[in-house]
Amino acid sequence: MSENKIPYKIYLEEKEMPTAWYNLRADMKNKPAPLLNPGTHQPMTAEELGGVFCEELVKQELDNDTAYFDIPEDIRNFYKMYRPSPLVRAYCLEEKLKTPAKIYYKFEGNNTSGSHKLNSAIAQAYYAKKQGLKGVTTETGAGQWGTALSMACSYLGLDCKVYMVKCSYEQKPFRREVMRTYGASVTPSPSMETEVGKKILAEHPGTTGSLGCAISEAVEKAVTNEGYRYVLGSVLNQVLLHQSVIGLEAKTALDKYGIKPDVIIGCAGGGSNLGGLIAPFMGEKLRGEADYQFIAVEPASCPSFTRGTYAYDFCDTGMVCPLAKMYTLGSDFIPSANHAGGLRYHGMSSILSQLYNDGLMEAISVKQTDVFEAAEYFARVEGILPAPESSHAIRAAIDEAVKCRETGEEKTILFGLTGTGYFDMVAYEKFHDGQMDDYIPTDEELAKYRAMLPKID
Ligand SMILES: *Cc1c(COP(=O)(O)O)cnc(C)c1O
Repeated sequence: MSENKIPYKIYLEEKEMPTAWYNLRADMKNKPAPLLNPGTHQPMTAEELGGVFCEELVKQELDNDTAYFDIPEDIRNFYKMYRPSPLVRAYCLEEKLKTPAKIYYKFEGNNTSGSHKLNSAIAQAYYAKKQGLKGVTTETGAGQWGTALSMACSYLGLDCKVYMVKCSYEQKPFRREVMRTYGASVTPSPSMETEVGKKILAEHPGTTGSLGCAISEAVEKAVTNEGYRYVLGSVLNQVLLHQSVIGLEAKTALDKYGIKPDVIIGCAGGGSNLGGLIAPFMGEKLRGEADYQFIAVEPASCPSFTRGTYAYDFCDTGMVCPLAKMYTLGSDFIPSANHAGGLRYHGMSSILSQLYNDGLMEAISVKQTDVFEAAEYFARVEGILPAPESSHAIRAAIDEAVKCRETGEEKTILFGLTGTGYFDMVAYEKFHDGQMDDYIPTDEELAKYRAMLPKID
């Protein structure tokens, strides 16, 4: 098909939507390291994990071999309310950049939660409901995950208890109210509601919180309340599995027009959107069927891949969760409160960490003001007001396209546009007023937290 036949938006029909999630681990030679019991340092058993997570989700978490998991019909029907998500050819951006590169983005912001997180929220809520639970607990940083989970829980009639990182709770009152509109209860973290919250407050009075603290509180709440389990919006293998719907749809859409991306770019917080977007492409690379360049983009203020250590670490500040082997800055690392958005987690998906360690994926970090510059540029050219997190990927995609302008290469670039930024206008305001800073942790600071990593093996 000739080039000019490719539409601005490549939509899929309902019948072309994926009916199974793809489990990338099945094709990995080096499997991601198992979660360890924080007490015994032995791999977590299904039984142990079952105290914290829902049964079906534990099975998905531990399964390194099954390539495809059928998506239950109820979840497929929920997906149909807001999926398939559009794959957009960024003609306007290409023209503005005067680049020979062809740029595509998969836009996940077309739902009320405003991000890709709903793809896993509905799956996790579904399995909790199926198990007969009363409700779920979770944490949220910037608020997208809490919003997505609230939507999924209200749809299925489950109780939803959200611990929201305190600085976001204060900066984003509208996010909080959206969650309450969907029936969730929202508590700023650290709080006095949990033992771990009290302890963290005693040690760090006045702290604005972190995802690691909020996770500890949500886990404690789940394990001390009958009929509740904890759910997590990123990092875990099961979340990457659910998010594979992004990559599967993107691949089907590209295949329809015979398009093969050269470079695939995504922002990386805990790794779920990136893991989901690259999944089927990485599968081809692992099986030796095709080759792609994969780039993870992280904030310079929280550089887990580019300046972290590949080691076992706690997933939370209170050290109640299992240990995961990942690129980490240390569970005590609390990123600068000035940093906008949800890429502030200290660790990274074990799957992506293994792929990065094996040289199958690259990573770069970008400064916050450069990210907002790209965000604003994109908003003016492509119309969509992007989330700050997503704008890390935009920055990298623009930089790649500009390189192509200089070298004349006609690369095809695919990036994940994970969400919209309507609730991030305080950050945009700071950027416009020239009050945004580019805080980057020093080597000494990172070394301090590295020295505090648990000693395993
Ligand atoms: C949460 C979030 C991210 C980062 O999370 P990942 O698990 O790394 O995908 C990125 N973009 C948006 C819009 C988010 O809400």
